[in-house]
Amino acid sequence: MNFDLTEEQHLFRESVRKWVVNECPKDWCRDLERREHEYPQELWDRLTRAGFHGVGIPEEYGGLGGDIITQALFARELARHAGGLAWIWGITSFSGAHALRVHGSEEQKREMLPKMAAGDLRAAMSFSEPSGGTDLLGGMKTEARKVGDGWVVNGEKIWSTTADTADYLLLMARSEKNPSRRTDGISVFFVPRETPGITVTPLPKLGMRALSSCAVHFEDAFVPDDLLLGEAGRAWYDTTKTLNNERILNTAMCLGMLDGVLEDALEHMKTRSAFGKTIGHFQILQHYVADIAMAQKQIELLLYNTAWLQAEGRPCGVESTMAKTCASEAVSKAADRGISILGGMGYSAETDMQRYWRDSRLLSIGPISNEMARNVIAEGFGLPRSF
Ligand SMILES: Cc1cc2nc3c(=O)[nH]c(=O)nc-3n(C[C@H](O)[C@H](O)[C@H](O)COP(=O)(O)OP(=O)(O)OC[C@H]3O[C@@H](n4cnc5c(N)ncnc54)[C@H](O)[C@@H]3O)c2cc1C
Repeated sequence: MNFDLTEEQHLFRESVRKWVVNECPKDWCRDLERREHEYPQELWDRLTRAGFHGVGIPEEYGGLGGDIITQALFARELARHAGGLAWIWGITSFSGAHALRVHGSEEQKREMLPKMAAGDLRAAMSFSEPSGGTDLLGGMKTEARKVGDGWVVNGEKIWSTTADTADYLLLMARSEKNPSRRTDGISVFFVPRETPGITVTPLPKLGMRALSSCAVHFEDAFVPDDLLLGEAGRAWYDTTKTLNNERILNTAMCLGMLDGVLEDALEHMKTRSAFGKTIGHFQILQHYVADIAMAQKQIELLLYNTAWLQAEGRPCGVESTMAKTCASEAVSKAADRGISILGGMGYSAETDMQRYWRDSRLLSIGPISNEMARNVIAEGFGLPRSF
């Protein structure tokens, strides 16, 4: 059994790490994050100049290539400093581009993927609705009605992150009124955000405040046929094919934030003094660090194992769901301990611990909640579906 990165993966990780240290210092990311609804354009531009929007996009479509392991390495290193702002890369390059690769026609891929890789096209995901994120199908009221050479969309989406600045919204809607199965009759469209009839409203939230998560209202918004991705009515089946990738990359983002927590905790323990010695002498704080370090190791092993299974084309639905669930809980707990280690400074907007704590909390809620994730895991062990 070999858990080593290849020479190429190792060099890639080192080069990304160096880039992150130089181009995304933590204090810069901290300052960007707190500017609510102020899109961190400079972060996007720096990623563009480095070519990193192309990570994971195949070379034949203008990207840098790289399998799921390479993408996970990138997500981890970026999140170590950028925290939840790493979604600025993730939404377009791993959610948007991956969905396009799975659902899209060859023509659509040739048209869109090179622009995504070059940083010239931004996507946002508009799947969740006010009446249901976990029960996505049960709550889906947004309708796409067929007319002539296109579709007319009416409905409301919620939490669509970066929808206010995206060029395109990856929209999931019900395109058939009374399908025989609730998984039928769902379609996905790539909708230009500036389409008449679309209104985007940023929502205030706890973390990654600069990247707005938005309510998106559709009122008779027309989408031409050539922006339907895949076959009408079959999108649910294609979407389920993207879930392992998404969960593996969510795990990598959690692990990156956990790395950031550990290094900040250690630095503080070596420099802050109390009772005549540095606080790193206190056993209870050492135990907190040991807990964080053990979690880091466990998540790293889960991540590498699951990414390897996925890269090998082997089934890993349960494993990727386990990894995402364990990682999101581990990073939240680690950041909480990190706040304790930093004391008052852990609660201060002048350090990053509070930012990791706020940003990481989302990953227990979405894209799949950890409660629903546990349902999926239990079902994988042969138990009946509980919902
Ligand atoms: C900051 C942020 C950014 C987001 N970005 C996006 C985005 O870009 N695009 C997008 O489409 N969506 C996005 N989302 C939405 C996210 O995916 C949903 O919030 C998530 O799926 C949970 O759905 P919900 O909020 O409707 O909670 P609900 O579905 O209402 O769930 C409420 C509670 O009930 C529990 N629950 C529900 N059903 C079950 C069950 N069967 N068994 C056990 N427990 C259950 C849940 O686990 C949760 O604890 C984002 C959300 C947030 C907060």
